[in-house]
Amino acid sequence: MFQNTENTPISKIGEFGLIDHISKSFEVKNKDVLKGIGDDAAVIDLGNDKVMLVTTDMLTEGVHFDMVYTPLKHLGYKAVAVNLSDIYAMNGNPSHITVSIALSSKFTLEAVEELYEGIKLACENYKVDLVGGDTVSSQYGMTISITAIGYAEKSKVAYRSGAKEFDLVCVSGDLGAAFMGLQLLEREKKMFKENPNLQPDLNGYDYLLERQLKPEPRKDIVRLLHDNGIVPTSMIDISDGLSSEILHVCKASGVGCDIYISKIPVDHLTQQAAELFNMDATTPALNGGEDYELLFTVKQSDFEIVKKLKGISIIGHITADKMNARLVNQANEASPITALGWEAFNQ
Ligand code: ADP
Ligand code: MG
Repeated sequence: MFQNTENTPISKIGEFGLIDHISKSFEVKNKDVLKGIGDDAAVIDLGNDKVMLVTTDMLTEGVHFDMVYTPLKHLGYKAVAVNLSDIYAMNGNPSHITVSIALSSKFTLEAVEELYEGIKLACENYKVDLVGGDTVSSQYGMTISITAIGYAEKSKVAYRSGAKEFDLVCVSGDLGAAFMGLQLLEREKKMFKENPNLQPDLNGYDYLLERQLKPEPRKDIVRLLHDNGIVPTSMIDISDGLSSEILHVCKASGVGCDIYISKIPVDHLTQQAAELFNMDATTPALNGGEDYELLFTVKQSDFEIVKKLKGISIIGHITADKMNARLVNQANEASPITALGWEAFNQ
């Protein structure tokens, strides 16, 4: 039972407020903890310029996925992918995972097999080993929680807190596609409910659906930066939307930034789908989330190298103006960036 009789709704402080609240009452006791709560993964010193990275992410039915349109194999793959993404976001490489599942009675052996087919495929594609987990029953639906472990060179770890004035802000791939994929799936679900005889009309949108259902963490980008001798000064993966993530970087680094709307990479299919939903494509790109691209900063002296790298866009720069994150439009007008992305307790 709760001993404190106050009843503060968690939505009042939000997901990040709650995490701050929890972390305040825990002091780090072990000297090897280089970073505890507050980054994409915890960083544990192993000595000899080596660190271990640890991260965990949970997906729960009805909140993070809908069984109506989520194939279990994809769900297993995605659950692994989102964890590996947090290891890559530290400029590290994942090596092991544990998988814990809570299952209600509606899930059969065959269903669990399908889920693990996806987990296995992700393990094979990203060369990680499944080394444990936990299995429990649940009253309602499924929850899947994965912990990933990885390694990095201590001197090359990219924290959220390393961005400095004049650094260039870069992003991999394109943004907003996963959100538009979700809108399409939700629309089909609604139409199917109204008329079960209707065939899904998702032709031509495979890319957006794949981005939503089967995201790929950007191992290739970590490799590309490494091969080109670039160590990002800061890095974070885009799980909650560009706005939310750049604010995390600015807050952790004690800096501001100017991000240019015209430089934000958006795929033409995202653009097309946004038009279909009467939306400006910058909305999903800024606030959509679940793209699992990497947002990072590099020193200005790396400009000549970075501008030539395929699949990387330079979208702005870091300013000394503490916490003043600004979005600059085509007319060169700046407005403050606000986080409208995914927030666990505002759904
Ligand atoms: P990400 O989006 O990269 O997965 P989160 O926003 O989920 O990161 O978490 C931010 C930080 O807060 C991480 O260091 C994470 O380990 C920590 N964290 C989140 N929830 C809790 C919790 N309930 N208790 C302790 N630490 C937490
Ligand atoms: Mg992250």
